[in-house]
Amino acid sequence: MSASPQRRRRLLLLGGGHSHALTLLDWAQRPLPTSDLELVLVNPSRHSLYSGLVPAWMAGRQALAALQIDLAALCQAAGARLMLGEAEALDAQHQRLRLSNGESLDYDLLSVNTGSTLRPPEHAGPCLTLRPLSRLIHDWPAFLQTWQHEDGPLALDAVGGGAAGVEVLLAVLHRLHLLRPDRPMQARLFSASDRLLVGHPTGVARRAELALRQAGVQLALGRRWQPGDSPAGSCLLWAAGAQPPAWLARSGLALSSDGYLAVNPSLQSRSHPSVFAAGDSAAFSPPLDKSGVRAVRMAPTLADNLRATWVGQPLQVHRPQSAVLALLALPDGRAIASHARWGSAQGRWVGRWKDALDVGFMRRFAPEALASLNPPGVS
Ligand SMILES: Cc1cc2nc3c(=O)[nH]c(=O)nc-3n(C[C@H](O)[C@H](O)[C@H](O)COP(=O)(O)OP(=O)(O)OC[C@H]3O[C@@H](n4cnc5c(N)ncnc54)[C@H](O)[C@@H]3O)c2cc1C
Repeated sequence: MSASPQRRRRLLLLGGGHSHALTLLDWAQRPLPTSDLELVLVNPSRHSLYSGLVPAWMAGRQALAALQIDLAALCQAAGARLMLGEAEALDAQHQRLRLSNGESLDYDLLSVNTGSTLRPPEHAGPCLTLRPLSRLIHDWPAFLQTWQHEDGPLALDAVGGGAAGVEVLLAVLHRLHLLRPDRPMQARLFSASDRLLVGHPTGVARRAELALRQAGVQLALGRRWQPGDSPAGSCLLWAAGAQPPAWLARSGLALSSDGYLAVNPSLQSRSHPSVFAAGDSAAFSPPLDKSGVRAVRMAPTLADNLRATWVGQPLQVHRPQSAVLALLALPDGRAIASHARWGSAQGRWVGRWKDALDVGFMRRFAPEALASLNPPGVS
């Protein structure tokens, strides 16, 4: 890495996703050598959102604050500067990032953890899109307001039969019914594949299917949603087709065939050694499912390897687990457990297990937990 004579060398964390939140936490506990380091985190907002609790929030079981990670407090604890902004272009050759507000930032070392996004089709009617979460947290309360104050039936078409789509559809129906039991609803779930929850054991799909049918959802499996499928006035819930951000395609970085940042086993870009990536942004080989659990598991390797690169030490290798546990929240407090080797389980005890894991994760970022760390001083 080349040092600029005008400024301290800059380690730029782009996106406050799960991996970067944990990386900063690690550095708050084991500070980086900061004498010539400017550590900057760029994220569109002060808070990052923990997706595992989104269905519980939508179902009305959790307050929004329960899923917010305060990046400003986290940065302060880690000696980093939080810059509010959104990457719009990345020039990997010149090591420069451009933000949507026109500002540019040079970097010596970059780490990308901006997650994935969804791009719903143009649709005349209302559409709730699961990503970005920063939009969903505004769209969902607005949707609820309208629902509460209007009359008449609702036709809801959900698109996407993955875990998030199933959890959120159940949460939405539960909440809408609680608020206005008098308003009739009709819900359908479209999935291009002919079974739900591809990649999960069949028992998980069966349990989810039953939960959806009990909630009155009509399943349209093996059917790719087309604009003509939803009659005028119906509402879309869009949960299909996670995609990488558009700016990655023009960055000059090596990408996977589906457009994510191609990394080696050390989470380092396959084309540019000064760039790392983790979470949904990273295309690992062999490919990993895009999940918060995977992003969390990559964090220790990322934190260590950014540190090692900074001080010129050898990199570690990320060894992903062959199968990870997934817990799908049901709106009544139960949950479905899914594991490639163990199969599936369901019940209130699984719900309590999920709650304990989620609350345990968030507790690490609570103000009192961060305050107990020794801040090395803001750069
Ligand atoms: C409703 C829902 C529920 C889910 N539940 C689970 C679950 O229970 N378990 C599980 O394992 N997975 C779950 N997932 C999947 C999980 O959310 C993702 O796989 C995970 O969030 C990826 O984490 P990440 O660290 O890569 O990025 P993210 O957590 O998506 O964070 C990305 C961050 O980057 C920021 N960002 C985005 N674009 C830019 C930009 N251009 N410039 C700067 N910053 C940017 C974002 O604002 C955000 O703060 C769920 C997904 C959804 C939608």
